[in-house]
Order: sequence, then C-alpha cells, then structure tokens
Amino acid sequence: MMKPVLVFGMVLAATFAVADDVPPPASKLSRAVAESGNRQPAIPRPDQETLAQEKLAAHLAETGQRPNIVIFVVDDMGYGDPGAFGGGGMIGAATPEMDALAAEGLKLTSTYSQYTCTPTRAAIYTGRLPARTGLIRPILAGDTLKVNPWEGELTSAGLLSDAGYHTMLVGKWHIGEGEGMRPHDVGFDEFFGFYKAQKEYTQAYDGRRFPDLVHDEDKLGRYQSIGSINDLIFGLADGTTETVETITSPEMMAEGDRKLRDYTVKRIAELAGGEQPFFISHSFMKVHADNFPSEEYVGASASKFPYRDNMVEVDAYIGDVVEALESAGVLENTFIFVTSDNGPQMDSWPDSGYTPFRGAKGTTWEGGVRVPGIAYWKGMIAPGRESDGLFDLMDLFDTALALGGVDAEALPADRYWDGIDQTSFLLADDGESKREHVYNWLGAQLAAMRMREYKAHLLVSLAQEKFLYIDMAAVVPTGLAPWLFNLYIDPMEEYPVGHRMNAWTASLGAELKAHAATFAKFPPKDLGL
Ligand code: CA
Repeated sequence: MMKPVLVFGMVLAATFAVADDVPPPASKLSRAVAESGNRQPAIPRPDQETLAQEKLAAHLAETGQRPNIVIFVVDDMGYGDPGAFGGGGMIGAATPEMDALAAEGLKLTSTYSQYTCTPTRAAIYTGRLPARTGLIRPILAGDTLKVNPWEGELTSAGLLSDAGYHTMLVGKWHIGEGEGMRPHDVGFDEFFGFYKAQKEYTQAYDGRRFPDLVHDEDKLGRYQSIGSINDLIFGLADGTTETVETITSPEMMAEGDRKLRDYTVKRIAELAGGEQPFFISHSFMKVHADNFPSEEYVGASASKFPYRDNMVEVDAYIGDVVEALESAGVLENTFIFVTSDNGPQMDSWPDSGYTPFRGAKGTTWEGGVRVPGIAYWKGMIAPGRESDGLFDLMDLFDTALALGGVDAEALPADRYWDGIDQTSFLLADDGESKREHVYNWLGAQLAAMRMREYKAHLLVSLAQEKFLYIDMAAVVPTGLAPWLFNLYIDPMEEYPVGHRMNAWTASLGAELKAHAATFAKFPPKDLGL
C-alpha cells in the first residue's frame, strides 16, 4: 500500500510500498526479520547465503543444468524408526540405506510436519499452511465444496515444470481424487500412484481385519457403492488418466511399493539421458497401516512384524532409487530429501512406528509432528553434518524453487507464504536454520508453536488410553497460561516451565498473536466444508 511519508517536513509520495507493509517484530526475543507483509519472517544469515550461492553457481557452471530434486516421503514413519534417529536394528528393523544418507549428508533432528497426511503433503507442495489453503483433509466422495481448494494455488511441481523441469509424483497423493484436484491437474507432469492411504484399498478385501464388512454382503455392497477409486493410476498433465490395475486384495496392495520403486527406477534411467532436470516426489504407501509386506520382505525384519518388515522394505527401495541415480550418472546432480508426513499412528499398534516423544499422529505434541529429516547431495552437502535447527517441511517448497532457479519474489503478493528458503542452511558447510518459528495447527485451529527450544501449547490432545491419540482423545484448551516446555531439558513435554521462564511465555504469546494476525490480513478460503 502506498502512503505519503513525511521526511524533514516534506511530503514524499515515496515508493516504500513493501517497507510500508512490513510488520514490526512481534517480540524482542525473536531473531526473525520480516522482509514483506506476506512472508514468514526469517533469521537473516547473509554470510551463509553468499557461500551457498557461490557453491550453486559453481555447480551450475560445471554441469550446465539445474539439479534434479528427489523427495522421499514415507507415510506415517515415526521419528525413531530409522537407525540414524535412534531406531533401526535396536527396534528390530535395520535401515542401512537411510542411515547411510544421514551419515553422508545432513541429519536434521528438528524437522516438522503437520499433524496428519493431507495437510503435510499440501504444505510441502504449496509452501502454505493448510489452514490458509483449506487443504486440511482429503476431499471425499459426497463432500459439497463451494470451491476446489486447489483453485488458484501454485505448487512447486507446477512452478518447476514452468521453469523447465519434468515433474513427477510417484506414489501416494491423498489431496483429492476428483478432476481438478489430482496431481497431474495441479502441476505434476506425470503421476503414477494412488489417491488414498494404503488401508483404504484393502478394507473391503481383508476378512481377517474387517470380517463385519467383508463377510456381510449388504454392508459390503453399500460400502462399495460410495465409488471411491481403488486403482493404481497413471496420469499426465494433458488430462490422460488411466487405470494401471485395480487393487482387489491385501496381497496386491503388498506389492504396491515395489511397483512404485520399479517405476521411479525406470523413469530415472530414461529422464537422466534427457535435457530436462527432474523433480520427483517419491511418496511411499508404506508404512501406513494396514501393513502387508511384499512377498520378498515377509519376515525380513528381525522383529517379523509387518510394520517392521515394511520399514526394511521401504529402506531397501530408497537404496534402489539412489542406486538408480548413481547408475544413471546423476547422483552428484541430485538433491535428495528423506522424511515422513507425520508421526507414527499409534492407534493401530502394533502396526505402528516408534517415536521417543510424547503423542503421536493426530496431535501437535512432538510425537505427532517431529519427523526424521535427511538432506543429501553428494559433493554439495558436507557429509556427517547434524543440526537441530528448525526445518518445516513447507520449507521444501521454497528450497526446491531456489534450487530450480524459480524467483520466489515473483510469486503473487495477494496471499501469505509460510515456507522459508533453506538452501543456505542445507548447502553452506556450517549453515544454520533461517527458521525461528514452527506453527502447529490442528485442522483449522492454531494449537502450538515452537521457537528455538521452547514450545507453547494453546490446545493439547489428551489421549484417554495409551496410544489412542486419534480414536479416543480430547482436544482441550490450556488454561490461564499456555503450556510452555523447554524441549532441551524436557523433550517429552511433561513439565511446563511457564512460571520459571516468564520472558519466554510473554514472548511466545506475542509471536502467536502475530501469526494469528496474518490470517486476519489474508483470510483463509471458505470451502464450505
Ligand atoms: Ca501419513
């Protein structure tokens, strides 16, 4: 907004358009600085920015091509599942491939997702909080929407495609299956995968878990009449949408991830010889319940439980894709990120992952939103690095754009952007995070915020029985003060320190208010749900 500015008594019709919109810092304790009124404030790190830009420029000069980007999203994998994050062989499911990427890359111990599948995936691809876009849950058959939440949204895939990338989603989508909401409708040039979570494909065919449905003709007929798509789909941006196969048994679903692996490996070999760099989101169906290992992996883990067998399987497939990049001669030109879309789903225990933290999927406790994060780029990210700097998976949006040479400044100014370009954090040898805040939303409600090692809760999920964080939990507003935890001395979020740390309580309160104010200025979409 333009506003006359008074300087030494003279009215200037100044062009301080951006500066005028920049909000003042919400509290003195925050290191973050706002660059504009519609972007998440970030911690300035000019020295590492310079180093990272020099590194990227040298790489571009040498290869003549922007880097490929491969993001692995494992479904519902717990923070503590990979060996590099405390699990692995210790819990009966060794993960040598992920551990090697962590050891030879950057291990991020404070990586944050949203609290469930759909919001996280939407945030990764849009760089915006799901509460803004309305992509807070999958759009289901029978939902009456005022607007398609994808309408007007930009995705990293679409922006990179416009910038010359071949963009591909292999695997799980879970952000809508109607026309206009499918991956190949919203920016992916190519889609090979599934619209839903693994369990939704096998319910009608799994008589051992769901006998009341499978063995009752009337109920089964009614269930199937909902018409949800049970297929492995191939799609292209030109609208081509084909059924590869229809899943009609747990045994077929068990082979789903093997087929996704085969597809990505095959396409990497083909794409590596082409002119375009590629952006691949390889999104596993596993290890979301209900887990059925591929035939080759039955009993492959020391534990022999299906979840753990599937961890071994997923880990091996990550290794196969990395191997495919290496054989194709493009590993040194590929940025790789490994993560999970939320914490373990403890409600399905023992078909569940492992987290050392309080809570689980479906909550904004650390157990629900703190996930493994591994950034790997041979020759570009120094091996053996580890950082507890904050990284929100939304930052992958901005970071992918930066790596792909898309100018984030040119993004529309009519909306709020929540991600932060973390290229310098990841690439500079001693890079530090630019993120000061992580906001934890429960659907359309702001529930908590982390700033440095402090986390303040406004709403908490209280499980009524151990592990039942979705099926039997109450969401309760906190009282007179937010519940404030110091995650360094209390990673389990058990002992609030509000009254011993008054300065931080006040500061985090002010920061939360400032975040909420961005929603007043840029109102979220009304989907009519
Ligand atoms: Ca998930």
